[in-house]
Amino acid sequence: MSRLPIVFRLVLGPELALWAKAGRAPVLWWRDDDARAATGALEQLLALSRRHQAPLTLAAIAGPSLPLLVSRTETEPQVELAVHGFKHVNRQPQGQGFGEIIDSDDTDWIRAQLRATVMQFHRVGVAPTLFVPPWNNLKPQLLEVLPDSAITAVSGFDQASSERDGVKRLDAHLDVLRWKGGGRFRGSWRFLSRMRRLMIQRRKAGQWDEPIGLLTHHLDHDKATWLFLERFLATFRVTARRQLTGETAAPIEALSA
Ligand SMILES: [Zn+2]
Repeated sequence: MSRLPIVFRLVLGPELALWAKAGRAPVLWWRDDDARAATGALEQLLALSRRHQAPLTLAAIAGPSLPLLVSRTETEPQVELAVHGFKHVNRQPQGQGFGEIIDSDDTDWIRAQLRATVMQFHRVGVAPTLFVPPWNNLKPQLLEVLPDSAITAVSGFDQASSERDGVKRLDAHLDVLRWKGGGRFRGSWRFLSRMRRLMIQRRKAGQWDEPIGLLTHHLDHDKATWLFLERFLATFRVTARRQLTGETAAPIEALSA
């Protein structure tokens, strides 16, 4: 533990020691949101993931640049593409938060949107099985249509993992950014203190293997965020999302044309 960066040691040291004593380590997975295109920031993210051999779930928006995004990521075996909403457009009435699906949307419309979006991925040779609703706004109507779709897992924010009608739920819990007044680094102390709380909950409940999800947004990272992630990923091992929800990757050849 002496090689841990000082702030990691100060905040997490005693808790990590308790885990080590029990022969355990936190189970982490990594979700990054809002990929639309192959950008410089995406290159930085992919290099980070490669450098630390950290499997990455990239929640991607199906737009005009999806083919290029796919051709850039298909040579990165540690990267999984997930569906990040239909168009990632906020449709909530003003003052009621953010979300793409609103209360008055019926399930037929949502089913059609989902099918069309997943089809956009299939057309460029990707078979996503995870859906990440924009702004983590998971509406009940969406959960209703998922069981008869190609999607087998969903990811929001801060809930425990679960399963409903054969669809797994695996959330993110640790947002590296804070959003009030524009996205910026949350700060090591705040981030790690939250991680300590999540670890204490899991240890006390004996749920050592309950995953903890790291959440990043590569387009919004400042220098301090990148630096922190470098240290974080050098310290902790990350598990692939598909492994945590009991899936193996579908071979591209198996996709329907
Ligand atoms: Zn988003």
